[in-house]
Amino acid sequence: MDLDAVRANIRTLRGYARGAEVMAVVKADGYGHGGLPCARAAREAGASWLGTATPEEAFALRAAGDTGRILCWLWTPGGPWARAIAEDVDVSASGHWALTEIVEAARALGRPARVHLKADTGLGRNGCQPADWPELVAAARAAEAEGAIRVTGVWSHFACADEPGHPSIAAQLTAFRAAVAEAERAGLTPEVRHHANSPATLTLPDAHFDLVRPGISIYGLAPSPEVGVAADLGLRPAMTLRASLALVKRVPPGHGVSYGHHYRTAGDTTLALVPIGYADGVPRHASDRGPVLVAGAWRTVAGRVAMDQFVVDLGGDTASAGDPATLFGPGDAGEPTAEDWARAAGTIAYEIVTRVGGRVPRVYRG
Ligand SMILES: *Cc1c(COP(=O)(O)O)cnc(C)c1O
Repeated sequence: MDLDAVRANIRTLRGYARGAEVMAVVKADGYGHGGLPCARAAREAGASWLGTATPEEAFALRAAGDTGRILCWLWTPGGPWARAIAEDVDVSASGHWALTEIVEAARALGRPARVHLKADTGLGRNGCQPADWPELVAAARAAEAEGAIRVTGVWSHFACADEPGHPSIAAQLTAFRAAVAEAERAGLTPEVRHHANSPATLTLPDAHFDLVRPGISIYGLAPSPEVGVAADLGLRPAMTLRASLALVKRVPPGHGVSYGHHYRTAGDTTLALVPIGYADGVPRHASDRGPVLVAGAWRTVAGRVAMDQFVVDLGGDTASAGDPATLFGPGDAGEPTAEDWARAAGTIAYEIVTRVGGRVPRVYRG
């Protein structure tokens, strides 16, 4: 894991954001890169906010000594609101139930909660529908007047920002401006209005408002092929996934390889065993397709990816046990990228890096 790359990406994103502040999204263990080290690197490079999905992720940042602003947005009834308030974590409310629980917790604690009200501007996932927004805003204003909360943010999230030009983008921005205007009419004065994920940070200055919330791009990956490739966007992938060959052996023609014998050797050949499998996040869907750099060339997974290992066919080439097999990295040493694996597995690079399992040791540099 290249923390210098994370720092450089944050600086690049600050350039895209111009005046807007940057919230580094470090949910899901920093998209598999290590939430704490990446958060630290992001802070060093000027991220004034950190973003997490779950409260536990936010508390882990506090426990590691982070004292800056943190927003945590994925809550369920009975969640640890009091702890979040006590630990100075900004919380999000997408509906009346959440605001009610926040206000109760803040009253009991005798300390105001910092709340971001989330509007559903069209994503259809979390967030408050326009029909319910005036009531949520009015209740928040009343709680603010009482001193139980301070509305620090009004925010929303895109559905299709990774498809530049998609008609939903403009519609969501219009809905967001209306939601902000409604909140202001009700007397709320949020510190930050925010709507932009990575693709919007990279392609849509109109969506930057006061704060942008990039996730995947801080780890150096492009959000989608439509948005561009990492290098052209000025981003550098931070994660390299590598294993040491566990065995190299000669086999005769027609030899079946791995479970189900979906691959058979075409002739006399050399097989190399890569000791990493789907339990480590290598997608089983990439069986017979995933690219791996071994002995100076791209090889393809031969047969099925198993739980702990897979095989590549080196053809006429040779290698030795202990030689490196690089599944993906920044790409500049000739290795495939997470985007290449996403294509091979029919998924997105987000899933490739996020699913790398806990059994894989993380090594940090920078
Ligand atoms: C994950 C997430 C982000 C970051 O999205 P990227 O596409 O990775 O930049 C931003 N905001 C919210 C609400 C998210 O859930």
